[in-house]
Order: sequence, then C-alpha cells, then structure tokens
Amino acid sequence: MQRQSRRDTVPELLLRRAVWRRGLRYRVDVSPIHGTRRRADLVFPRAKVAVYVDGCFWHCCPQHATTPKANRGWWVEKLHANVARDRDTDRRLHEAGWTAVRIWEHEDTEAAAKRVERVVREHLAELG
Ligand SMILES: [Zn+2]
Repeated sequence: MQRQSRRDTVPELLLRRAVWRRGLRYRVDVSPIHGTRRRADLVFPRAKVAVYVDGCFWHCCPQHATTPKANRGWWVEKLHANVARDRDTDRRLHEAGWTAVRIWEHEDTEAAAKRVERVVREHLAELG
C-alpha cells in the first residue's frame, strides 16, 4: 500500500507539466493559507487558487473507490476521515478567499490542466 502523503506522483507531475506549458506559474507542495499544514499540489498565490490531485483510493473517487477486505472497519473510518478532511480544507480555503480545485488522479491530464487554467485566469481577470 502506498504512503498517503507522498510527493511527486505521476499524475501530479503530468498535471504540473501541462499547466506550465499553458504559461501558468505556480508553487509546488506548499500550504496555501497560514495555520493549515495541508499542502496543496499546485498553488497560485496571486489568483488564490489551490490545486489538489486526489488519489482515487485515498480520497474515494466515485468511480474507483474500494475498501480493502482486511481490517475493513478501520479502512472505512480512515477513508471517510480523509474525505471529511478534504471537505474541511475546501471550506477553510473558501473562508480565506481561496478556491480549491480538485483533480482525480484518473482524469485526463489535458482536460484537468484546461480546468485549472480556466479557474486561475478567471481569478486573475477579477483582480484586473
Ligand atoms: Zn478514479
């Protein structure tokens, strides 16, 4: 089983590269807001957009969520806690004026990069 808080997964690297090619610059693996140790995968400080690449297993993607049979109860609790923490992070970001963009690891990289670009450019446009 993979460790949860690993860095630089393949979907993350592909997304970063695709977003970079679209001319967007970002910070990697930093906390968007003070007081949370929950780091985002791509952070756009000026646009106040934080992008998370969520693993299908760990974050319970609707298409690929599974629960291991061994220690089932423990896993159900663990995975539910992950999802609850994701929603809590989104809420905290929102309250701090940030927008969270969540990408599933199974998503098409170019489609995901396009979505990130749209959100970032919209926010930058609002800044004038
Ligand atoms: Zn999935």
